[in-house]
Amino acid sequence: MKNHPRLRISQSLIKDWWDYKEQKLCGPLWEALWVSRIITYDDISDSEVMKCGSRFEYELTGALDYYGKVPEIPCTKAGKPIAKMQYLLDLIPIFIEVVAKYNIEEIKINEIWEYNAGEYDCTVRPDMWCLVDKVPAVIDIKTTGLLSSRSSKFEDYGWDLESLPYKHKLVIQPIHTKFMATEVKHIQDVPFYWLIFSNTGSGEVEFIEARVEQDRLLNHVNMLDTLYGEIMDEIDLGIAKYPSVSSCKECPLKGNCTSRALAPVTKSILIR
Ligand code: SF4
Repeated sequence: MKNHPRLRISQSLIKDWWDYKEQKLCGPLWEALWVSRIITYDDISDSEVMKCGSRFEYELTGALDYYGKVPEIPCTKAGKPIAKMQYLLDLIPIFIEVVAKYNIEEIKINEIWEYNAGEYDCTVRPDMWCLVDKVPAVIDIKTTGLLSSRSSKFEDYGWDLESLPYKHKLVIQPIHTKFMATEVKHIQDVPFYWLIFSNTGSGEVEFIEARVEQDRLLNHVNMLDTLYGEIMDEIDLGIAKYPSVSSCKECPLKGNCTSRALAPVTKSILIR
């Protein structure tokens, strides 16, 4: 086995691993994010949607960005907030109403929870660790264009309520957070809520409690062990690269990558 840094398993690491397995994320990028940790999301995406989300969260809770700085407001050339940002800023009064209605208090922002699971560590950083009507709870703030649009049912990150329990890349967050609350805070089955704001100008806001069956929570430990073994095997065998013209063009590792795609790789189909 190669000598590699100790893994810190978060729900983001897990989701990115699943993206890698689906060939949606190139292996060296995954390793640079989660094993050597020489890059962050800021290095691989400067999407305006993400910037709007970060700034909005700052407006709501005071949360700073990864580097401890105040996230900037994405602006037009005329110096005004871009439309998605303005739509979110317009929803700030609703956040204040939510805090009052659900009696949310003693809010701690981005507290880091860590747990030594033997061969690896587990980590989670709840957006809001607080009391909801006097009960300790976690609230995660989301901004999205997929709250109730027609495609929200079919997208991995769409918030259609009926299909939500089956979306593994979304439900991993409450599962992992509840597991960590048990290990770190010694609270079984801590209440977990998503507070979701639409960035489309529709004005929609949803407050969703994610409840998780006990068996699913118990299985999470086994899932983590299996995942860790799978990751170590893959790293030792050699993690795969998935070059594509578009992803390589934006890749922060392209300077030293011999697999960089300057032209499309050949794909083939068989017509019967
Ligand atoms: S340049 Fe392309 S192939 Fe190389 S690591 Fe980046 S995305 Fe992968």
